[in-house]
This record gives sequence, structure tokens and C-alpha cells, in this order.
Amino acid sequence: MKYEPTIGLEIHAELKTVTKMFCDSPNNPDEKHPNVNVCPVCLGHPGTLPVINKDAVSSVIKVGIALGGTINKITKFDRKNYFYPDLPKGYQISQYDQPLVIGGKLNDIRLRRIHLEEDTGRLIHELQGNGLRSMIQDSSLVDFNRAGVPLMEIVTEPDIKSAEEAMKFAKELQLILRYLEVSDADMEKGHMRIEANVSLNAGTKVEVKNINSFRAVGEAIKTELERQEKLLKKGEKVKHETRGWNETKKTTVSQRSKEEAKDYRYFPEPDLPPFETDSFDLEALRVAVPELPKEKRVRFAKEFNLDPDRVEILVSDMDMSNFFEEAVSELQALDPKLSIQMLFNYLTSDLLGLIREAKVTFKESKINPEHLAHLISLIDKGRVLSRGAKDILKKMFETGFDPEAIMESEDLGTISNKKDLEKTIKEVIAEQEKAVADYKKGKEASLKFMVGTAMGKLKGRGDPKTLEELFKKALK
Ligand code: MN
Repeated sequence: MKYEPTIGLEIHAELKTVTKMFCDSPNNPDEKHPNVNVCPVCLGHPGTLPVINKDAVSSVIKVGIALGGTINKITKFDRKNYFYPDLPKGYQISQYDQPLVIGGKLNDIRLRRIHLEEDTGRLIHELQGNGLRSMIQDSSLVDFNRAGVPLMEIVTEPDIKSAEEAMKFAKELQLILRYLEVSDADMEKGHMRIEANVSLNAGTKVEVKNINSFRAVGEAIKTELERQEKLLKKGEKVKHETRGWNETKKTTVSQRSKEEAKDYRYFPEPDLPPFETDSFDLEALRVAVPELPKEKRVRFAKEFNLDPDRVEILVSDMDMSNFFEEAVSELQALDPKLSIQMLFNYLTSDLLGLIREAKVTFKESKINPEHLAHLISLIDKGRVLSRGAKDILKKMFETGFDPEAIMESEDLGTISNKKDLEKTIKEVIAEQEKAVADYKKGKEASLKFMVGTAMGKLKGRGDPKTLEELFKKALK
């Protein structure tokens, strides 16, 4: 008997807004000090009133447009009631029956809905004697900085058939959210959180939580599918429950029986009347959606004649792909014969290395596409060799100066002047008696060795062709 997996995902993503969802407390996921980005509204004090963050609504509409969903004409917020220590109001403002977006599609997986809600606070559990305070018992601390941060929830239809497909979907969604600049969607930092509804042969669904990385998406789903298959083969039933992924033990662990919508006693948020999405400039939001990764892959492959692996490197970072495109057009303005391939190599190995090391983005770095193109043309003309080019690039990255100016002021250009090279050649011939003798006996490799030795003395700047020529002449 073969078991057919059915998988649906619920993905929460924190939106990158300046302030929280219903108040003007700062939304700063990097804040280290607990309970500073709070106010009476997000702490749920009696008598306070929520005010909708329009930027958060715009962000979700943008996502809806990008994923081909329908923007609901009238949308509203609802209260989802439950008690938990990280939920100061005793309810979460969410959306129940009139979400912002209905439908849509990504990687052939249909989307059911996209709605907007607020995030909870964060609980920090401490073991006895292990925490900030020395407690006699285990304790938990609560940080409300995250409480009330705008949270978008995307729910898919159960169209996913494998753990790999789920992982691919999640990665592509992360990329799109980054392209739209609505969320950093970093799973390790909890900006993006994934829950999977997993069942076999359309049987009982099990919800898997605590998935904190893309790898874990794959592992947790695979493990849960195997667990269910074992149960079914033994003739046992799969329980309808919520299970947590245990990263260290690589198993899913039962947490609680699955709650139903009716358990939350949803009702319309009385402090926020339904509103029309027409009051947002939908056309402007449509225009604000950039070229998405899927289209960019096709265009880059065609326009720049790059293989799929190289295209993927560029497309995986929108800033880098924009930088590349601008640099290519600068390069072609200099000389259409210049190598795009060489530009790609310097961009994705050397420059990307510097950018990662400095922990900045392409936008934040001082280097510009015009200067990178100029460097490539200097290399192409032989005015600088690879070692000098790497040094120049480093200086360009540090200072934002033009490569030619750096080459001249730091004396990093190729030495092809015969007079300057002859002194070094004499030195090498005097020191390398054996190589000279071998070469004279007809051993060609000795010539290469001597050129290499001279190159070392010239700190990689000697023009190798001229060097070879001069050695041959000197040893005739
Ligand atoms: Mn939710």
C-alpha cells in the first residue's frame, strides 16, 4: 500500500514597519533590552483603542498582488480569544472571515488566504539558578517588545506533496517577501515562522510547529510523514493534534490536542469597523511590485547568457542582481566586447566576500557598478593583473574611489616596462643556476619556473608575456 502525503503550510511573517500594528510603539526586532518598545495600547491596558497601521495593510496588499490573489473589497479585524502569558490583551486582533487577500498561487501551490494580525510577546524560560536572577524555582520572564508587531499569515491549500516541495515553496516565498521589501523573513531570527499540516491519504491532519529553519521544514515534515505511515501500517489511528519539532532529537513531540476555530470564540473587533480596501491606492501598490524572481531568472538567463546556477546566485539577492545589471550596462558602454563572465566572477566571489565580511548590503556598500565595470576594463587591457585587481577592489570597497585612481596612487598596475623588468630578471638568473642550466638543456618548465620566481619578486605585477620574452632573450 502506498501512502499519498498531503501537506498545507501556514506561514507567519513579521512585517518591517516603523511602528507596531495598532499603536505607535517602535517595531524593532533587534531591540535587545526587554519591555522598552511598549505602550498602554500594545500592553492591553483598559480604555485604550487600537489604530490600524496603514503601512502594514499596504504591505499585505502588495504581497497579495504579487502572488496573484484577490484583494477583498471589504475587510475587517476580529478578536481571537485565548489565554497565554505572552498575550497581554487576552486576545489577538486577527482576521477571521474577511481576510485582506483571498486566493493566489506560488509554485503551482494554491493559496487559501493572506491575513493580517498582531504578534505576541516572547517568553524566556529559565531553569533554576541559571537565569538573570537566582530563583529558587524554574521561572519564565516575559518581553512584550514583540507584542503587537504586524504579522502577516499566509495559508496554502493542501497542494504540497512532499517535504522537498514544502521547502522549495518556503524558500521562494522568503525571496518574494524580500523582493517586496515587506519582511526580512529570516527564519533563524523568527521573522518567518512555518507550521505544516501533514496527513496521509487525506486522513487525520497533524499540525507540526517549532520549525525554525528551512532544513527543519524538510526534516520535520519527512519525520512526521514517516511516523504517520508507521501508525497506519500497524492499523492504528493518527490523532488530531499539534506536535512540536524537536531539533535535537529529530522527532515530533505531542504538544496538545488541536484546537478548532470555535475554541477561539472569534468575534468582530468592536473597536475597529470594517473598511474598504479601495481607500488604499491599489494602482500605486501594483506599480510598486518589482520584477519577481521567477521572471528575473528567465530574463537573466536569456539576456546575459548565464547558466541556471549562476542566475540563481544573482537572483537570490535583489540588490546584488540590480548591481550586476547596472554594472553590465556600464561595461557595455565602455566596450561591448568586455567579458560579462569576468564581471560575474569578480562580483559574486571577491566583492560578495568583502560585503559578507563587512556585514553590509550592496546598497550600503561604497562601491558602485560603474567602478566595478571600470576595473574589469583595466583587467581586460592588461593594465592590472589579478592580484593587483583584488587589492584595488578591496580599496574600492573601503573608500568608494575610482579603480584607476587607486591603481596609480597605490602603484598596483602591471609592470610591462622592459627596463623595470630587466633588473629582476638578472637577479633571478643569478640566483637560479640550476633552472638556468636545465632550461639551456631544453627543459621548458624551467622557463615557467623562472617567470614565476620573477613574478613573486614583483609582487604579482610583472607582465608575464614580457617577462617570458625577456628571459628567452637573456638566456640565448
Ligand atoms: Mn496566526
